[in-house]
Amino acid sequence: MNAEEYGTLMPLEDVLESRQPLTRSIALMRRACESLGLSQVVTANLVSPQEVRVFRLPCKILGKIVTLWGVLALHNNARGPFKGGIRLSGDVTIWETVELARLMTLKTAVTDTEFGGGKTGIRVDMDEMYRLFNRQPPDPEFDKIISLDAVEYYAQATREIFASHTYVPAPDLGTGPDEMAFIFNETLDPASVTGKPEGTHGWLPGRREATGYGVAYITRRVMEEMLGKQAAGSTVAIQGFGNVGGHTARYLAEAGLKVVAITDAHGGIYHGAGLDIAAVEEHARARGTVAGFTPAQPFTNEQLWSLEVDVLVPAAVGNVITEANAPDIRARAIVEGANMPTTVEAMDVLGQRGIVVVPDILANAGGVVASMEEYSRSLSAMKVTRDEVFATIEKSLGTAFDNCRERMREKGVRMSEAAVGLAVERVYDAMRRRRMT
Ligand code: NAD
Repeated sequence: MNAEEYGTLMPLEDVLESRQPLTRSIALMRRACESLGLSQVVTANLVSPQEVRVFRLPCKILGKIVTLWGVLALHNNARGPFKGGIRLSGDVTIWETVELARLMTLKTAVTDTEFGGGKTGIRVDMDEMYRLFNRQPPDPEFDKIISLDAVEYYAQATREIFASHTYVPAPDLGTGPDEMAFIFNETLDPASVTGKPEGTHGWLPGRREATGYGVAYITRRVMEEMLGKQAAGSTVAIQGFGNVGGHTARYLAEAGLKVVAITDAHGGIYHGAGLDIAAVEEHARARGTVAGFTPAQPFTNEQLWSLEVDVLVPAAVGNVITEANAPDIRARAIVEGANMPTTVEAMDVLGQRGIVVVPDILANAGGVVASMEEYSRSLSAMKVTRDEVFATIEKSLGTAFDNCRERMREKGVRMSEAAVGLAVERVYDAMRRRRMT
């Protein structure tokens, strides 16, 4: 196969889909709009993206021209610059990118962060790349060449949007601080991108840990204020031990909670007395999974859903709590560390069973709060410490949590409805004042 043939393997038709699926955020936003008495036209304006750009991205990688396809979804900027990560993955589609951008609009609004919502998806099929370049997976060095090249070409092609702060990107699946450095290299403006590497112009201490720190903070608040339990000694189970799950586990254990079960893509572990998280981290660093850690019993992702714990934190992938397993859940609350781990149908089942669901837009918003801190510090060139960043996360998420609780009481709704309702109200208000709807 030569480089020219590669482009034909990824036709535009694969990226362009004709009809927007009814996603979780659309369903929740429509419900919120209905209860706010907003018209169908206003609802459509709130749900619809402002702009979607589908682009061909020819990249010269290791001497070959490889054509990638990408999507830039600019959902809403009524409250501030479009904000959201750059995802490199083999299954990127327009509607998934739009859904993730819409989620960012809700996340920034509920935490009252002065950003809007955006997202980039670049379709990179790594299996195809390994074949094209005759490499054997896994080859982390090769993976890095691909992601750095893709983002460098994307930064060149989209420079104006970054340099003008129209859209402020950050890392997402398949990208990290190294790729963000390439965006800075292109704009030479530290405020044009967040999630920059440690020690570079405008980097933020605590940015890496921010999402997990926020999930742990919200879990403690739920435990004490909604479940009426002392946080110390309460039990938690976590799916995922990556950036979000790993830091969540660490900060929960530091606060005295017992993390009794953790699962990841390769298996899981259970220890009723509470896992030693520092030791699990060391094990996972060496083995690439929590599975096999001792002293702990082997445990599966399926077992996780019916485990009797105070709080369950899905912090890995989407759509894992469904209508099928929601009736089995024995946790008293679910704190969504991942994006959209619970389907709308499952949310309804859990709501009827009196199980609290703290939605992603509140629970995992610590990262975007830290991003605003990084953006504003990059604009002002003022330094900030990790503890100050953590204090900002507690303040922003704490206020959002209080606002949602108040709305739950006032309107007699569930936490997820309160959070989406609050976000929709704020975005609508800004759009109305700016004559955007
Ligand atoms: P990551 O790649 O660092 O870690 C993912 C973890 O999930 C790994 O432990 C992996 O083994 C596990 N996993 C993957 N597939 C699984 C499966 N099918 N079953 C069980 N476990 C599985 O990713 P991350 O940055 O921790 O992100 C996790 C989730 O949180 C994603 O949904 C992401 O979109 C969301 N999120 C991340 C951030 C952030 O700042 N990193 C912010 C907001 C939301």
